[in-house]
Formats: sequence, structure tokens, C-alpha cells
Amino acid sequence: MSDVNELRSMADLLRSGATLTSLSCPACASPLFKMKSGDLWCARCKKRVVVVREDGEITEAVAAPLLDTLESTLIMKIGEINEKIQGESEIEQLQRLGGVLSTMLESLERVRRIKRMGKA
Ligand SMILES: [Zn+2]
Repeated sequence: MSDVNELRSMADLLRSGATLTSLSCPACASPLFKMKSGDLWCARCKKRVVVVREDGEITEAVAAPLLDTLESTLIMKIGEINEKIQGESEIEQLQRLGGVLSTMLESLERVRRIKRMGKA
């Protein structure tokens, strides 16, 4: 589909009451629209985009910018915990920090898996 058609369909979306969001389509990186119904819509793919639910189940596609932010936040936190572990000598504290670290690493792995699925 040509860019002209894409712009036209974006304009139609806006006229119908849809709003432009800061999210982008995981498939083509076009900005996503939020429809009046609350659904996210990609004008280029002509497809509804579903974000990952809070329980982590993947329904259709994901909003990539959010995942990028989440990934860098997790990496930053893992670095902070690593520093705390290095400076900690109490066993109980180390166990607690170890638990937090492994949760963070699992979350990071999950985010990366979701990102790969979004690109597929
Ligand atoms: Zn798209």
C-alpha cells in the first residue's frame, strides 16, 4: 500500500474519533491509533494490535516502545542489585537480594521473549 493511501486512512481514522498514541506497531513501526472502542489499530497493517496483558499472556502483538523501556529499566535495576550484593556481607540480605535478582532476570528474559514474538 502506498504512503498516500496510508496517510489517507490515518486521516480517516482521526476523523472517526480515533486518537494517535505514542505506541508503535510491532510489525511495521507505524504509530498506533486508539479507536473509540479502546482498541489499538495499525493503519499500515490494517490490523488490530493487542498489547500484552498484565498476567503476561500474549494475545496478538505487543507495543514495542514500552518493552524497550521495560528492558532498559530491568537492566539498570539488575546493575543496582549487583552493586548491592557486592557490598553486602549478611547472609539474610544476600538471600533477599538474590531472590530479587532472579525475579529481575526472569522478567528480563520474558520481555526479550515477547519482543522476539513481536518481530516474528
Ligand atoms: Zn503495522
